[in-house]
Amino acid sequence: MATLPPGGGFLLGPTDPQHVFTPEDFTEEQRLLAATTRHFVLNEVLPHLPAIEAKTPGLLPRLLKQAGALGLLGVEIPTAYGGAGMGLASGLLLLETAALGGGSFLVSLGDHVGIGTLPILYFGSPALRQTYLPALATGDKLGCYALTEPQAGSDALAVQTTATLAPDGRHYLLSGTKIFVTNAGFADLFTVFAKVDRAHFTAFVVERQAPGLTVGKEEHKLGIVGSSTCAVTLDHVPVPVTHVLGEVGQGHRVAFNILNVGRLKLGAGCLGSIKVVMAHAVPYAQQRRQFGRPIASFGLIQHKLAEMALRAYALESLVYRTAGLIEARLATPAPAAPDDHARLSASIEEYAIECAIAKVFGSEALDAAVDEMVQIYGGYGYMEEFPAARAYRDARINRIFEGTNEINRLLILDTLQRRASRNRLPLFDALQRVGKTLLAPLPPLQDSEAAPLQVEQQLVERGKQAVLLCAGAAVQAFGTELAEQQEVLALLADMIIAVYAAESVVLRTLKRCPSGEDDPRLAAARLWGRELPQRLAHLGSAVLAASAQGDTLQTQLAALQKLTRVTPVNSVALRRRIAAAALAAQGYPFG
Ligand SMILES: Cc1cc2nc3c(=O)[nH]c(=O)nc-3n(C[C@H](O)[C@H](O)[C@H](O)COP(=O)(O)OP(=O)(O)OC[C@H]3O[C@@H](n4cnc5c(N)ncnc54)[C@H](O)[C@@H]3O)c2cc1C
Repeated sequence: MATLPPGGGFLLGPTDPQHVFTPEDFTEEQRLLAATTRHFVLNEVLPHLPAIEAKTPGLLPRLLKQAGALGLLGVEIPTAYGGAGMGLASGLLLLETAALGGGSFLVSLGDHVGIGTLPILYFGSPALRQTYLPALATGDKLGCYALTEPQAGSDALAVQTTATLAPDGRHYLLSGTKIFVTNAGFADLFTVFAKVDRAHFTAFVVERQAPGLTVGKEEHKLGIVGSSTCAVTLDHVPVPVTHVLGEVGQGHRVAFNILNVGRLKLGAGCLGSIKVVMAHAVPYAQQRRQFGRPIASFGLIQHKLAEMALRAYALESLVYRTAGLIEARLATPAPAAPDDHARLSASIEEYAIECAIAKVFGSEALDAAVDEMVQIYGGYGYMEEFPAARAYRDARINRIFEGTNEINRLLILDTLQRRASRNRLPLFDALQRVGKTLLAPLPPLQDSEAAPLQVEQQLVERGKQAVLLCAGAAVQAFGTELAEQQEVLALLADMIIAVYAAESVVLRTLKRCPSGEDDPRLAAARLWGRELPQRLAHLGSAVLAASAQGDTLQTQLAALQKLTRVTPVNSVALRRRIAAAALAAQGYPFG
């Protein structure tokens, strides 16, 4: 078996397409899961959409429990605890498909199966797992996650909720205020973060009935209005010492690892949501006529549909590629036991960079899609009777929760830098190597008809060199002060995101080698590969200009130009081909 790349390792060299997990690799069991979820959501959830949005009391928890009765809440929970033990990629497929039920349902389900359940699965003691996981799998108990506080949002470790050992020595007493807790209106179990003795950040499982726990009123929100979001106050709430998740003082491991996987799940939810957008926008564009013809026949509308499809294809490719990496790590060298916390959390932590990319890329791809959906609907896009307005509002939250996109962009660079300095990733060597090759001429791109996407593969590899060149220039210019250059870090993060997206598309398309030249997946891979250099040239030149001056800057810019030189393809024709496929499929064309 091939060696697994370390997290962030995709930047340092090529990946064999055959080692990448893609949606085409789903098993029959996984396809059945998607079909069951789809059937449930279309028949049991969607008909209630207006009632969900009207916050009908009891409706969302009832729907979640129905999903539990079908086995949908236990997809990732090991069989030993009453779940299906189907793994992470299946959990992502569940959420992708559940997006059909609208943002409010998706967020409620995602919260329960994700940050509401996983802390106990990954960090609970055997007794806690035995007590709670079977009930979380069936929906008998619903979960939520209470980290944010009025003064501790992005700076999550600044929580002020306290945990003090009670005189009986068997309980902690928790006091503080949590805000914006999804599912709090009906959840039975709360993962609460507090500081033991005001110092040791720790995660606890708290039951709703615990004396002193009060759930506030429902917030009135911009979008996902049917979902439950409340403040929770804790006033000397007694929590058994056995309800600590992981260890006292190790709450950051729980918080950040759960957020890592939450970010990947958020990417899957965004993917499903873009597919829903396309399922509405494409038929609408086909039936809406102006100037005597369907608006779908206009190039500018086709461009919008092609863009949605292109971004969704990249998101799909990178989300499942990342899930494949995490699952492979869990299975290496031998499958991890279901209660091997350390292996579970280390496997997820390893791919924190890729999870952050899924979150940022997914939420921004969805925002771009809903924005264009409103535009395709024209004035009707602004009217509540049509689906675009709600989709537009529901999408916006994704750039805020699970760590804002600003925090996630910073995290990508911070994680790379920490791994490099701890020798977990040979990044500094790679930076030096690229620096040495600055002046050497580049060999011409190899292009043979027998090897599809050969040029695109080379452009991706050159793109990685461009990222390293710019990162090296920034490190050289700012040294230990680089953390204060947030704009530069965000530009570098965008370069890294663009490379991972383009590479994931090219690898997936190569693995499945489309049959004919006309295959729209080939058009998508060409566009991602051939447009990558332009993106990187634009972002990279801003990094270099902020980092160097004079001759040094000129030398670096020349090297960047060399690495990002490309003969443009006919992007208009390629996008039209993708739009034609979307029109034929009446939605997302690559499913
Ligand atoms: C509908 C909804 C549901 C939620 N559900 C949950 C939940 O279930 N559980 C839970 O614990 N939390 C939940 N949250 C909270 C959410 O995770 C936080 O709102 C989010 O982490 C941002 O924190 P904040 O709102 O305090 O914003 P702030 O941290 O105040 O950020 C404000 C702005 O400043 C930026 N910023 C902050 N720090 C930096 C920095 N170092 N550098 C650059 N920019 C920075 C941010 O990116 C943002 O743009 C939910 C929020 C909402 C709105």
